[in-house]
Amino acid sequence: MGKKGYYGKFGGRFVPETLMPALYELEDALRTARRDISFRKELDYYFKEYVGRPTPLYYARNASKKLGFKLYLKREDLCHTGAHKILNALGQALLARRMNKIRVIAETGAGQHGVAVATAASLLALQCVIYMGADDVERQKTNVMRMEILGAKVQPVTKGTRTLKDAINEALRDWVTNVTTTHYILGTVFGPYPYPELVKYFVSIIGREAKKQILRKEGKMPDAVIACVGGGSNAIGIFFPFLKMKNVKLIGVEAGGEGIASGRHAARFQTGKVGIFQGTKSYVLQNEWGQILDTYSIAPGLDYASVGPEHSFLFESGRVHYTYAEDDKVIEAYLFLSREEGILPALESSHALAFLMKNKRDFEDQVVLLNLSGRGDKDLPTVLRRISEDGIKRDFRDSQKK
Ligand SMILES: *Cc1c(COP(=O)(O)O)cnc(C)c1O
Repeated sequence: MGKKGYYGKFGGRFVPETLMPALYELEDALRTARRDISFRKELDYYFKEYVGRPTPLYYARNASKKLGFKLYLKREDLCHTGAHKILNALGQALLARRMNKIRVIAETGAGQHGVAVATAASLLALQCVIYMGADDVERQKTNVMRMEILGAKVQPVTKGTRTLKDAINEALRDWVTNVTTTHYILGTVFGPYPYPELVKYFVSIIGREAKKQILRKEGKMPDAVIACVGGGSNAIGIFFPFLKMKNVKLIGVEAGGEGIASGRHAARFQTGKVGIFQGTKSYVLQNEWGQILDTYSIAPGLDYASVGPEHSFLFESGRVHYTYAEDDKVIEAYLFLSREEGILPALESSHALAFLMKNKRDFEDQVVLLNLSGRGDKDLPTVLRRISEDGIKRDFRDSQKK
């Protein structure tokens, strides 16, 4: 990071004056917590005993044989609650407690971040309010129930598009009003500084573990590390410890949806432009007048109009190669891993696998490390709906016969 809060020209904190004191306080808390051995011990304790770390780095033997390279899966799907999101939620909840806050709030789209925050709040006995667009509340009933069972209050937001964007604005409004008692747990490496750094601090354990594990198993660094990119937290989490190793290829995969030309996608680095959105400067899907475009992804965690500012920096510097995968290939990847390894991958993570499957010749005989960011049980209804479409159904039956 160069100028404080910036990654090259990206990042910063573009927020109203009223929010600045809260961001300064958070920056301070992060700085002292990082240096405090008792905080690091507490974090280690919960990551190990509660989340279940270290997660395995699993050599996917059957899949590797079919693909022609060695595929290792970093099993974040085995984290408590089924994805890497608990790392950030729990880390920030611990920080909130350290800051003597009694209440945490968060925004959520599909509900995955909301469930992670409600879980952490329950564990640490913090009050919890989750803002969620009213349409999302309707669509995601089971996650709403999950949050409520965990003791959180789910607050539907009826303003604007009744989705994630408006839920974020409402959460920020709550934070400004209640900042003495409340911490806002932002869900990914996004938003105004220090959030991108704060979230990275909690998720980079993924890459630190993976680096040690691959060295033990292969006696060398991997040729490539690949992850899907929504806001960018699971990707930064696994990339960060490898950034300085120039021989390790880093690949980020965005949601290609129904194809770039269709406009129905969330591939910010394909057609996005630099802009300021929700407190930070980054690549944004916007029209020529700067209006935020509607995005689409088959994977709810990748469906967002902007991306963490550090990714924009890594894109322009060329250190990370950003690409995309389209829905049909994503479904194939989901079925492939389920069938070959007995592991149902989240549709988000399936994007990374889909790219590898499509480009397998480029990786021949290499060692490739894929961040399996979450489990795919949550996506079963979506997948079943899709495989009832003719083409994919035929492939699926063929693979059943083998
Ligand atoms: C939320 C989510 C993502 C996308 O978020 P990032 O911040 O880009 O990691 C990816 N995978 C899973 C399983 C998720 O739940």
